Amino acid sequence: MSTPRAPLYITMDERDNVAIVVNDGGLPAGTVFPSGLTLVDKVPQAHKVALVDIPLGGEVRRYNVVIGYALKDLKVGTWVHERLLKMPAARELVGLPIATVKPEPQPPLEGYTFEGYRNLDGSVGTRNILAITQTVQCVAGVTDFAVTRIKAELLPKYPNVDDVVALEHTYGCGVAIDAPDAIIPIRTLRNISLNPNFGGEVMLVSLGCEKLQPERLMPPGTIPLIDERNVADVGDSASPKLDVVCLQDDAHVGFMSMVDAIMRQAEEHLERLNDRRRETVPASELVVGVQCGGSDAFSGVTANPAVGFCTDLLVRAGATVMFSEVTEVRDGIDQLTSRASTPEVAEAMIREMAWYDAYLEKGRVDRSANTTPGNKKGGLSNIGEKAMGSIVKSGTSPISGVLAPGESARQKGITSGLIYAATPASDFICGTLQLAAGINLHVFTTGRGTPYGLAEVPVIKVATREDLARRWHDLMDINAGTIATGEKTIADVGWEMFELMLDVASGRKKTWAEHWKLHNALVLFNPAPVT
Ligand code: CA
Repeated sequence: MSTPRAPLYITMDERDNVAIVVNDGGLPAGTVFPSGLTLVDKVPQAHKVALVDIPLGGEVRRYNVVIGYALKDLKVGTWVHERLLKMPAARELVGLPIATVKPEPQPPLEGYTFEGYRNLDGSVGTRNILAITQTVQCVAGVTDFAVTRIKAELLPKYPNVDDVVALEHTYGCGVAIDAPDAIIPIRTLRNISLNPNFGGEVMLVSLGCEKLQPERLMPPGTIPLIDERNVADVGDSASPKLDVVCLQDDAHVGFMSMVDAIMRQAEEHLERLNDRRRETVPASELVVGVQCGGSDAFSGVTANPAVGFCTDLLVRAGATVMFSEVTEVRDGIDQLTSRASTPEVAEAMIREMAWYDAYLEKGRVDRSANTTPGNKKGGLSNIGEKAMGSIVKSGTSPISGVLAPGESARQKGITSGLIYAATPASDFICGTLQLAAGINLHVFTTGRGTPYGLAEVPVIKVATREDLARRWHDLMDINAGTIATGEKTIADVGWEMFELMLDVASGRKKTWAEHWKLHNALVLFNPAPVT
């Protein structure tokens, strides 16, 4: 498997006036393509070449969308990079097409199943994990110490439990907890604690004097009643007990007393988790979050379209799929509002975009702050071009719901379909917010390459190009680079992804990030002030 030696470029739409070079290492000036196109400049791999003469000020089109205006005359065969383009202004959030596109309903995809852990609230886990929630960063060291001992001394006694994870974060104190936007980090942490992979078992470690008190994090009614063992023994017998180990409790004399208390409480939860068994459930129980990171110009040609194909399969199977990353869809907002299933969904999407515009404005930047040096080196000239390649992850289905940052899909009554979960594009923050939204599987595409992984749910990583898939053969789960070389179609790779999802969800296969235990930190999105 290697990229072809013959010069090859890819055009996304017949109306485009630029294409991207496929060959590893790029191509030198003077290269002649089978079409007769001759390169004027050396063009790096994944970078754009002008297919026709583009005059000064002329539109540069990719995905049949204007990704920029030429800053000088660009001769056919020229390397079209970001310094030669003026970025178009962001689409205004008024006068957008609202629910105008009604995609032809796709036939249901039936008969696909996986082996999952059914929870009392109806959700399904793909892993069986004890999560220990922390109210505040202060307790992180103690919790980590206890978790190391739990893994060594307790976990071997409970073979049906996959792992123990401390939900460490930097929030909880030193923050303006009554600020309106503080609801975002608080509900994020709350909803992550209720992720389907944790079986409804909620256990808190608190310091005692922190602003985010346990009752504020987990108000009455948020914790499920598992069985008689977690019923509060005072007052209303039907309410579940909030299980908190408080380090400042007078009862603790010395560090080991705290560690012992955490271990004792953990064992109660481990006993119940160990009783969980996988059962055959329909593919409709998948809740998949998709995102990209370390993108290049191939992202929007290979991996993301394959994810989009797979997204359509998942929606047809009745599953829930969410895409995110506000700054990476902002330039395509008209495509999204037109695909909204109802005007209410379109309005919710506009509301999230407007909120984010204001958030960026407060920091005196705009959506163009998104792109990285690696994106540009990978051939993406600006956020407009990056957005077009990012949105294709959402496939073609109608968008049937919108979540604000940190909200849970299930709590909003969403249990199927394509939804937009508004999050920053930051890989760690997006992943963290999708965990709160209730994902039980995560799909991550990358062109530049990132070893990203999460401790809480399996992450399937998709390489956009052959060279990355070859070099990172024990980090990338799927090679979508075969699409660029013509060895496979978008549909081939989309189906491969769908089948792999069912295997990974069932625990039959582990992702590379799981194999190596590569886990990124939870990063709570806190737009409110710190104090
Ligand atoms: Ca991202």
